[in-house]
Amino acid sequence: MRLRPLPTAILLMSLIASGCRKPQPEPIRYNLGELAPAPDWDRLHAFQRTISREDFVTLLDDVYGEAERKTWQSTISIRGNAAEITTSTADPSAPSFKLHFTEYASTSPPRTWRSAAELNFSPAPLSLPLHDLKIAIDPGHIGGEWAKMEERWYQVGEDTKPVMEGSMTLAVAKLLKPRLEALGATVTLVRDSEEPVTDKRPEDFLPEVIESLRAQGIDPENPPSPAFSPRRQAEKRFYRTAEIRARATKINTIIKPDIVLCLHFNADAWGAADEPLFSTNNHLHFLVNGCYSQGEFSLDDQRLDLLENLLQRNHSEETALSDTLAATFAAESGLPPFIYPGTNARAVGTTSYVSARNLLATRLYKCPTAFFEPYIMNNAEVFERIQHPDKDPKKSIFQEYADAVTEGLATYYRHHRTQ
Ligand SMILES: [Zn+2]
Repeated sequence: MRLRPLPTAILLMSLIASGCRKPQPEPIRYNLGELAPAPDWDRLHAFQRTISREDFVTLLDDVYGEAERKTWQSTISIRGNAAEITTSTADPSAPSFKLHFTEYASTSPPRTWRSAAELNFSPAPLSLPLHDLKIAIDPGHIGGEWAKMEERWYQVGEDTKPVMEGSMTLAVAKLLKPRLEALGATVTLVRDSEEPVTDKRPEDFLPEVIESLRAQGIDPENPPSPAFSPRRQAEKRFYRTAEIRARATKINTIIKPDIVLCLHFNADAWGAADEPLFSTNNHLHFLVNGCYSQGEFSLDDQRLDLLENLLQRNHSEETALSDTLAATFAAESGLPPFIYPGTNARAVGTTSYVSARNLLATRLYKCPTAFFEPYIMNNAEVFERIQHPDKDPKKSIFQEYADAVTEGLATYYRHHRTQ
């Protein structure tokens, strides 16, 4: 019997079924910062037509880019009434994201936090200026047994108390919490002990840092200096990156505060931790998110994070808040402002105490964030105050810190909430 030839359509279908499949598109490759997840650009759809072209460009020029450098322009272009945003600098085939501007005045964007003017007034008496406000206090670093690893530890001789930044910020946070609650706020400490928030530990990062060292042409068995040993690299990944990322997840998905207060003490380089150098400097500054270099704009996760901060309008709230906190902190402590000499920060706000800088915490925390950098921990007078807080002729340095923050918040919310 002669076989009839198969019709072409059936032939094609059987070819496809037998494995001659349509090629699947390759997943997009991204250029990412340390431990960053692949960016989900769909997050920006919620902000379509919420900002005017003028406000968008002004924020990039005056806050999020470096001063005078237009560092944003290689990854974001303005075309008519929309911005074309590069989604991957590693993959030219990745489609860009189109953000449409509103043709009218910018509108209130979707976000989980409320500005001072948006808080409930029901009724907030003058004695409760923080009524209805949700505050997260983030005591910087970890302290305790982790302080040496964090390089936030020094000691003078064996008879003095070790100076540990993460323990001191926690002490201030614990003084601060009841004070702010007494003024009506709901307060959550991002950590309330000298333990990490992340459940990762340095050894979890050993395999990936060994791989990364090899990729850089460094023999992990024979690093050029102790700083490049796999153990040290894994420690840094743990306390500098994984820990801040875990805090960001807790803040953004569980606490969802209206503001975050990141408490720190500043320091100058002190050399050997058991024989520290002292500094004659002592000053105060505050940091808000901004001042991204061209290299930082080209990291796909960082560009998305900064755009989210920009579109949520974190800047005006966090800068006005920081300016008020700076004024009360300067009055309480007598500290002069610190002005950044380089290009990695730029002055913002109306006092000379506030600068924009791209820190992991200020970038990832999705609400207005005041980042405190008062006192030089290895200034001789500050050292004495830390050693003997009960005998301080002024007042305890921790009490002074907590008083300045409390006064600043009360002043800010008294003036800015709608009554
Ligand atoms: Zn610090």
